[in-house]
Amino acid sequence: MIDQMYRKAVLTVAGQKAIENAVRARGWGMAQRFVAGETPQTAIQAVHDLKKDGIMANLDLLGEFIESPAQCTQFADNVITMQGAAHAAGITPYVSIKLSSVGQGKTVDGEDLGLTNARRIIRRAREYGGFVCLDMEDHPRVDQTLAQFRTLHGEFGGQHVGTVLQSYLYRTEKDRASLDDLSPNLRIVKGAYLEPETVAYPQKADVDAAYRRLVYAHMQAGNYVNVATHDESIIHDVQMYALAHGISKDAFEFQMLYGIRRDLQRNLAAAGYRVRAYIPYGRDWYPYFSRRIAETPRNAMFVLRGMLKG
Ligand SMILES: Cc1cc2nc3c(=O)[nH]c(=O)nc-3n(C[C@H](O)[C@H](O)[C@H](O)COP(=O)(O)OP(=O)(O)OC[C@H]3O[C@@H](n4cnc5c(N)ncnc54)[C@H](O)[C@@H]3O)c2cc1C
Repeated sequence: MIDQMYRKAVLTVAGQKAIENAVRARGWGMAQRFVAGETPQTAIQAVHDLKKDGIMANLDLLGEFIESPAQCTQFADNVITMQGAAHAAGITPYVSIKLSSVGQGKTVDGEDLGLTNARRIIRRAREYGGFVCLDMEDHPRVDQTLAQFRTLHGEFGGQHVGTVLQSYLYRTEKDRASLDDLSPNLRIVKGAYLEPETVAYPQKADVDAAYRRLVYAHMQAGNYVNVATHDESIIHDVQMYALAHGISKDAFEFQMLYGIRRDLQRNLAAAGYRVRAYIPYGRDWYPYFSRRIAETPRNAMFVLRGMLKG
């Protein structure tokens, strides 16, 4: 409950224009802890750096609530440019996209623009042997995202596209089971948006319990699982579960955010687990940055200290 109140307070404050302007003006230095850089080149450098520690990468061009269809298509072009740059740098491009950023909900030439642009990105991923994960956004988008995932999975196959489920939503265990016929590559997260009690568990203990159930169920179904969390107790339990059920280390991977728990990322990789860091980059870093601050008061203190230092 406290977690929920803290998150609500931070996201409400962060949503105010004056706060956003103040943080944008002075906050880039602080955002660098969580964001690899503003250009594809800085992100590619971060991929190379992580590789030295045996950590894989997931590139994420930041940009949310992009308004016009032309901006959405431009955003998709920028992702495709990144895929090409990564390929040219010897990296198999693994990217995440938010369907809203590429036009979900906007109809152009009789088709949802998000779907059209996602197709272009996944086609390029297939060309390079890469992968595209469709991030999950706030709850009103879940139905459409899952439907579009199903369509894209049918067109390109599970080795090139996956999606995300959030354990804080009451509906998610049913959603997971409903995807079993696809044997999908799924990222399981707790959920980062401010959601009402009508759709999401308000208590952290319930979110955590649902998280474990989701991961175990997906493993039991024989599917590849991206265990995306920094929660050490869950990570430990997943390791034990896999061991007890004969699930090999290459049947799942741990995923964490760039700049968060690097020690844990390195230790897991050194112990032979597959580990992937989610590397956000780009000029539109503010909403992503706000959500990271909302996740833990420790991060808010880090930012406040930085701002006071001026
Ligand atoms: C790879 C990846 C992809 C994601 N994709 C999505 C997505 O598509 N949609 C979505 O809604 N959410 C996404 N998220 C965010 C996710 O939903 C959570 O908000 C976030 O991961 C924090 O939850 P947690 O599982 O780490 O557990 P928590 O219970 O929040 O935290 C567990 C512990 O981890 C540490 N920790 C957690 N977050 C931070 C932080 N920001 N800074 C420092 N320490 C921290 C703290 O010590 C905390 O005690 C993603 C997360 C990851 C790791």
